[in-house]
Amino acid sequence: MMNTTTYNDLKINFHFTECCNFRCKFCFAPFANKVLPFDALLQIIQRIAESKSCTAINFAGGEPTIYGKLVELIQFANNSGLKCSLITNGYNLTDKMLADILPHITKIGFSVHSFNEETKKAIMSCTTNLSTLTNNRLNDLCNQIAASGYDCKIKVNTVVCSLNKDEEMVSSIMQLPLSQWKILRCQKNARNMSMTISDDEFEMFCNRNIGFKGTIIENDMYNTYIIINPQGNLVFNSGLTYTKCGNVLTDNIDELLVGYPLRIDEYNKREKYAT
Ligand code: SF4
Repeated sequence: MMNTTTYNDLKINFHFTECCNFRCKFCFAPFANKVLPFDALLQIIQRIAESKSCTAINFAGGEPTIYGKLVELIQFANNSGLKCSLITNGYNLTDKMLADILPHITKIGFSVHSFNEETKKAIMSCTTNLSTLTNNRLNDLCNQIAASGYDCKIKVNTVVCSLNKDEEMVSSIMQLPLSQWKILRCQKNARNMSMTISDDEFEMFCNRNIGFKGTIIENDMYNTYIIINPQGNLVFNSGLTYTKCGNVLTDNIDELLVGYPLRIDEYNKREKYAT
């Protein structure tokens, strides 16, 4: 059922690139080398900033850090008045890049699907050469953010799939200076049927990993995120695929959002808890 609500403080997930240096087997990204020209990306960000509905943007992918002008995009978004966050696998996040974005960002999320090197490689949460973001480097990045003096929160996102469902992760999570650990159930897509898990398996993972107070569990993410894809299309999840509502470069984003099938109660529950 379509929504008819109007909004004034939404966060857009801008998946501006499908490229990634990792190859997680459950990933939705088709890894195509498609990124709009820099000026078009700026235009999309500006339209989000000028909209009446949106106050925040999350830079997502693919993997945002492999785009050469990510720092400029984040700076532009922040200077345009948007609250900025980033979700990354962390592998390509250099100390310099981190220092450049920290003044402009309020949250960095790391996609960490295991603390076991063999499991990371089995999931392909690693490069094609099987090089991973090591636990030491994750620790180092988190500590740099925490010690930076900037008000930047840190979270970890973990997708629970058939390859990590038996892992105990919470003791490692509690060693990191995190404000949030988001546990997401692997969502079905056309390519990852062997990676999905049963209700019981997901529940068992969650029960095994109780104890961190900033834990958020997402069993079902359908239409609780607002997504702009690499072509600038506002899209929503319609099962195994995404449906286009319109294009932010050509259509009015506020008007598009009136018809967006956002599950606002679920969205609010997550976003209010997250701030
Ligand atoms: S790091 Fe993220 S974008 Fe890259 S393959 Fe894994 S899930 Fe997909």
